[in-house]
Amino acid sequence: MSLSLRAFDSKGLMTLPTPPASPPTVHIVCPHCQTTNRVAKADLAKATDCGQCHQALFSGQSVAMSETAFDKHLQRDQIPVLVDFWAPWCGPCRLMAPAYEQAAQQLEPQVRVAKVNTEEAKNLGARYNIRSIPTLALFLNGREIARQPGAMGAADIVRWTQSQLAQHR
Ligand SMILES: [Zn+2]
Repeated sequence: MSLSLRAFDSKGLMTLPTPPASPPTVHIVCPHCQTTNRVAKADLAKATDCGQCHQALFSGQSVAMSETAFDKHLQRDQIPVLVDFWAPWCGPCRLMAPAYEQAAQQLEPQVRVAKVNTEEAKNLGARYNIRSIPTLALFLNGREIARQPGAMGAADIVRWTQSQLAQHR
């Protein structure tokens, strides 16, 4: 067996060819089975399915989250997570619900749009010190970057979210 000496560097080590740069990816937690998917950034806008449960990662609708699901999204999602803290008995929350869905259509897939029912996920309301509902909160890499109490229209929700994110780029 003969090896070309040119394949060794001065320390006698083999040099491996540099691997081609892989396209940038983001971690997206599946809203159905909570599996973390690695998605090429270029593919985000396409209808991408979860590698585990094969359901769509984005549906243009808000995702109702339990405490466990919410924590997983905050820990692993590499896109911002917008949350509506609400409760079924809250009139302004119910009024804002259709506007929130319209905003979800516009914000996904750049933002994960979530809803947390503070009646069911009482710990979350306490942990994030939610004093009134509805309250919108915006998280980036697990950290809350902005919060806005009070009902808003769809256009205002989108504008508020995008302006907050613009300050954190
Ligand atoms: Zn899934």
